[in-house]
Amino acid sequence: MSTQRLELADSSLREWDATVLAAFGPPDDEPGIVLDRSAFYPGGGGQPPDHGVLLWGGVQTRIVGVRRGNEPVLIPAEGDPIPPAGTTVRGAIEDERRTALMRTHSALHLLSGVVFRDFGALVTGSNMEPLEGRLDFNLESVPEGFKETIEAACNAEVGADRAIEAYELSREEAFAIPDVIRTATNLLPPEIEIVRIVDIRGLDVQADGGTHVAATAMIGEMRVVKVENKGKGFRRVRIVLG
Ligand SMILES: [Zn+2]
Repeated sequence: MSTQRLELADSSLREWDATVLAAFGPPDDEPGIVLDRSAFYPGGGGQPPDHGVLLWGGVQTRIVGVRRGNEPVLIPAEGDPIPPAGTTVRGAIEDERRTALMRTHSALHLLSGVVFRDFGALVTGSNMEPLEGRLDFNLESVPEGFKETIEAACNAEVGADRAIEAYELSREEAFAIPDVIRTATNLLPPEIEIVRIVDIRGLDVQADGGTHVAATAMIGEMRVVKVENKGKGFRRVRIVLG
């Protein structure tokens, strides 16, 4: 039993056909659905899971989250019908939420690239919700006008419309890239042989499993709303998207 993860190859995909490989529900289990092909991002790397719907046999099953295990297990809305194993379904991702999360995730990578390039600071933590997010940086001191400076630099990179590409490399090739080493906040488990890379051309390269927009202009206007001092060498930068 294995789910083909469609969103990893095509983050613009919103609808597809699939077959239910397994279905769980009361009284034995928590409700859950495993598909043979799924574009639901299961969450990870700070990006929350997708919401959406499965259409089958004239009914719909709303999907309100994903449990991560060996396979992504889709979580149905309470009370919605659960398609039995073998059912053919039409899957659809809630576009507004996913597109907002893609823009936000890409914006955080862009911010990471800008702050490293201009201030040499490394990311130590992150979080995001649709259209807002934060990165924590290992940054000793914050120069005068830091907030305005990075906001302007981020929007310059949005305006530059750099391509954002996702591709796979062998572990060896990936860790030969200095940017990948620098941004690897979570060490990859040794059994992982293929590393997915998200590359903002000329600005930031990270090992990353998330979904991203295709170019920085698609992020739209970025606002740095707050720079917080959380302790020695620990700065939290909060952004929102216009
Ligand atoms: Zn990421």
